[in-house]
Amino acid sequence: MRYDCIVIGGGASGMVAAIFAARRGQRIAIIEHRERLGKKILATGNGKCNYTNQVQTPDCYRGTHPEFAMAVLRQFDVEQTIAFFQSLGIYPKVRNGYVYPNSEQAVAVADVLAMELNNLKVEVFLKEHILNIEKEEQGFLLKTEEKKEYRCNKVIVATGGLAAPKQGSDGSGLKIMRRLGHTIVEPFPALVQLKAEGKFFKQVSGVRIEAKGELFSNQKKVTQEFGEYLFTDYGISGIPVFQMSRYAVSSVLQGKKTQLLLDFFPHMTENEFQILWNDRMKSGGYKTIGELFTGLLNNKLSNVLLAEAKINPENIANRLSNQEYTKLLKLLKSFPITITGSNGFENAQVSAGGISTLEVNPETMESKIIKGLYLTGEILDIDGTCGGYNLQWAWTTGAVAGQNIGK
Ligand SMILES: Cc1cc2nc3c(=O)[nH]c(=O)nc-3n(C[C@H](O)[C@H](O)[C@H](O)COP(=O)(O)OP(=O)(O)OC[C@H]3O[C@@H](n4cnc5c(N)ncnc54)[C@H](O)[C@@H]3O)c2cc1C
Repeated sequence: MRYDCIVIGGGASGMVAAIFAARRGQRIAIIEHRERLGKKILATGNGKCNYTNQVQTPDCYRGTHPEFAMAVLRQFDVEQTIAFFQSLGIYPKVRNGYVYPNSEQAVAVADVLAMELNNLKVEVFLKEHILNIEKEEQGFLLKTEEKKEYRCNKVIVATGGLAAPKQGSDGSGLKIMRRLGHTIVEPFPALVQLKAEGKFFKQVSGVRIEAKGELFSNQKKVTQEFGEYLFTDYGISGIPVFQMSRYAVSSVLQGKKTQLLLDFFPHMTENEFQILWNDRMKSGGYKTIGELFTGLLNNKLSNVLLAEAKINPENIANRLSNQEYTKLLKLLKSFPITITGSNGFENAQVSAGGISTLEVNPETMESKIIKGLYLTGEILDIDGTCGGYNLQWAWTTGAVAGQNIGK
């Protein structure tokens, strides 16, 4: 059996690519090694699938050459994405720009894609693992672990990155592409929790706090994020941590000193905070320093701060030395956390790195190295920030590749 095009990987980008290619009258098949299509989609957005975001700016996409992302996104943008899903049955619910299906069920997104594939008579082969792609004089020969062979004129590699391997993206596509001569920017986990140094984490595990975090790599500021930080027994988590994690992980992997400075009073300047603190001292200077924190900061956190400043919480606030006072204020506005790593690909929402975008045509998603081979989604060296950007990347690259099959 010879197909016009075979899509390897029935995830987010692969399903969309197959739909657009089939709509051009092409004979299409999807080969997926898991037991169902779109397994990862089910886990997205905490089971609600944040499938895109109305705000699309260049800084939402990262990679060695992040400008590649906008060049592709212009061809199938957020409005086209919402319209495409609406035509399949997904009525959008928008919350602060974040777009979800109105049913708030991620399975709905996977299901409508599967319904359309069925409608377009795309052939789907499940539980078949592609081991190798061979370029032939005319098209491609695909070999599976199950000892089956498939021939096609064109091939779309939509096998994802390395994040959440339980959902199928095990990096096998990257290995195949490396053998075929593509350059791989070494993948690393992104949108992931960060591990940190310090014995106090167990003590503050579960504490959430609104803060501003500034990330430093070898003393150089890399990025900053406002939002709710969550302390855990291994380190730190929360949306702002996810957003900065790709820079932190990259810095640690390069052996650089990676430090997060947390400001627990981000809406006040140091001066304003000092005034607030002085007022508290005036009215409550008779209290112990531990008691003076009551109502100002989570007490588990203030205990840690006091321990770090080597101040006994039982000391009377009025009797704090100037040195102790300065130390404490510094910690409240700039609490240092040394990052040592991440919770790995198993817990990451996306992998950074992947196939170099210098080797892919942004107009078509065709490889510049192997004619007739197209690449979509997370396998490429582009990763989106948290908020619907990774799925948008998957839909866009899938649509662009699919539309170009059979042109
Ligand atoms: C827990 C979690 C929550 C997330 N939430 C969101 C969210 O709310 N919004 C958002 O935008 N993004 C989210 N993401 C990220 C998003 O899901 C991915 O970036 C996106 O699914 C990538 O699409 P893809 O098509 O490139 O790869 P995938 O969706 O990973 O699909 C790749 C497919 O290829 C198959 N495959 C791999 N190798 C082979 C092989 N050799 N042979 C056959 N089949 C193969 C895999 O089984 C898989 O089905 C989340 C990710 C996770 C893990």
